[in-house]
Amino acid sequence: MSDLQTPIRSENLPVVTRFAPSPTGFLHLGHAYAALFAYRAAKGPNLDGSGRFILRIEDIDAGRCRPEFETAIYEDLAWLGLEWEQPVRRQSDNLADFESALDRLNRMGLLYPCFCTRADIKAEIEAANGAPHLVASGPDGPIYPGTCLMLSDAERKARADSGTPFALRLDMARAIQAAGALHWIDAVQGRVSARPEIFGDVVLARKDIPTSYHLSVTIDDHLQGVTLVTRGEDLFPATHIHRLLQKLLGLDTPAYHHHGLLVAADGRRLAKRDKAETIRDLRQNGYSPSDVRRMAGFP
Ligand code: GLU
Repeated sequence: MSDLQTPIRSENLPVVTRFAPSPTGFLHLGHAYAALFAYRAAKGPNLDGSGRFILRIEDIDAGRCRPEFETAIYEDLAWLGLEWEQPVRRQSDNLADFESALDRLNRMGLLYPCFCTRADIKAEIEAANGAPHLVASGPDGPIYPGTCLMLSDAERKARADSGTPFALRLDMARAIQAAGALHWIDAVQGRVSARPEIFGDVVLARKDIPTSYHLSVTIDDHLQGVTLVTRGEDLFPATHIHRLLQKLLGLDTPAYHHHGLLVAADGRRLAKRDKAETIRDLRQNGYSPSDVRRMAGFP
């Protein structure tokens, strides 16, 4: 992997990196790679020792996260030889931070309630486009057709008062107008112009959870003083939204290093469902921490 161990450093700031897993399964080799990548970017042998490494538990999705997976994250990372700062921030303990950001965006007139179900959205898109293959798709799925953006204040209130669950969406056109042109610096791609419009009116607070991945991760990276976000290139598109949220909410912009993903011997991407690849299985099968670090590319 060409970008192995060549992270950029933010100017004049100690490097602060993080590994931010969701406890929805056991960590696999791909996670070991991401964790070791972040760790080495802050604490690698050639750095001056001022770097900091943070572990954050991204557990907003109560339906999918399990305490036993969180416990396993700590055990597996410690077994691999990583050390992180205490206390560990758990997103589910800090929902008030996300709520106040939503309040702020709402006061700026950039959010609207969306009462649509998935089926409503699909039907609306198909009615408008005639055929599913004509549907514009963004990184998180089909672009929302804007149905609930058209509702009057009275309709919104009536639906909310009647107990219909709603998500909060970002009014992307207004948000972009408020933010202006934006860019970020990526270690692999250099200066990247932000194109948050590729997401359409993205959900910032889900119906079942009063926040979302995009909102929580952006706020937490700021609150925890992260200066270099390292993560897999599968999350590269998400940075378009994160950069916009930083601007709208007055948050710091870290540098980014979207790294390649570790693939299995047969070329497939490693995923949580590949049970045989979990760190615990490797450990139970007699591999040592240095074996696993070597398999993840960090001997
Ligand atoms: N929690 C996310 C995941 O497990 C990673 C978030 C990030 O690195 O931005 O995929």
